[in-house]
Amino acid sequence: EASVVLVSACLFGEACRYDGKSKGSNPVMRALEGKELVPVCPETGAGLGIPRPAVELRGGTGEAVLAGQAQAVVAATGDDRTAAFRYGAELALEAVKRFGVKVAVLKERSPSCGSQGTHVNGQVVRGRGVTAALLHSAGVIILSDEEL
Ligand code: SF4
Repeated sequence: EASVVLVSACLFGEACRYDGKSKGSNPVMRALEGKELVPVCPETGAGLGIPRPAVELRGGTGEAVLAGQAQAVVAATGDDRTAAFRYGAELALEAVKRFGVKVAVLKERSPSCGSQGTHVNGQVVRGRGVTAALLHSAGVIILSDEEL
């Protein structure tokens, strides 16, 4: 059975980051050669534009956001983006179910995609972003681009 890998779209060369850039990664591309890939950008999928203001989590990591105990907010203004972040995570989970994804390669430290570190209260802390938290809870094996 061919393995289908969900990948943060910005690692796959899409210029979907908040700053309008991509994070195309040669090690990631090499590691994923020959795999069936499902590129997903939770934030642009949820309708947040390109470019967009940088978002951080407030009050906890992705698990806490999913539990309603923390928020995703625009770092500079405090504007709430929690609903969009949750929606983006749901989009990624839908793709996981539709395509039988077992493994995801996600961009480290993003408030959505970070799997070992993410931005909380103005700092990078250990923990997952919102999408990484939801995929992890669904049993998806998550690799960081920095592990490849
Ligand atoms: Fe989109 Fe995730 Fe890349 Fe951010 S890290 S641009 S949410 S795919």
